[in-house]
Amino acid sequence: MTTREEKLQTYRDISKAAAEMILKKFDILEPRCGFSTGPGWVRPIEKCFEKMIAAGWNKDLAQVKQKFCQLRIYIGDRLPPETDPEMRETLGKIMDEAVIACSVLCESCGGARDPEQNWGPAYCEGCKKDWESTR
Ligand SMILES: [Zn+2]
Repeated sequence: MTTREEKLQTYRDISKAAAEMILKKFDILEPRCGFSTGPGWVRPIEKCFEKMIAAGWNKDLAQVKQKFCQLRIYIGDRLPPETDPEMRETLGKIMDEAVIACSVLCESCGGARDPEQNWGPAYCEGCKKDWESTR
């Protein structure tokens, strides 16, 4: 039987592979403060980066993580000084869209979850049960 420790390690490995895949796809350098979200959020994050790059983002990424069951994307402060405020605002809006998209998605399987949830892993009921069944 799989132990909780093994399950967590597998989840971490899958999450890491997903993050590496996204970074490679868009030719983005490893963020300085890490990239740690589950595989269920890959699609909204990809969509977000695609739109940000189209809007002129210089791909300076500081961190991607899950906090209080919400997606958090922090871009670097290394946007060229000539970057106009309108572009900064556009990038902010694109990131907000991704946060909203992930607020109803399970971080593990990408299925629907309770958007009110604000503690622990951002899992759907099925993934929560699966996790709790492990000791
Ligand atoms: Zn799930």
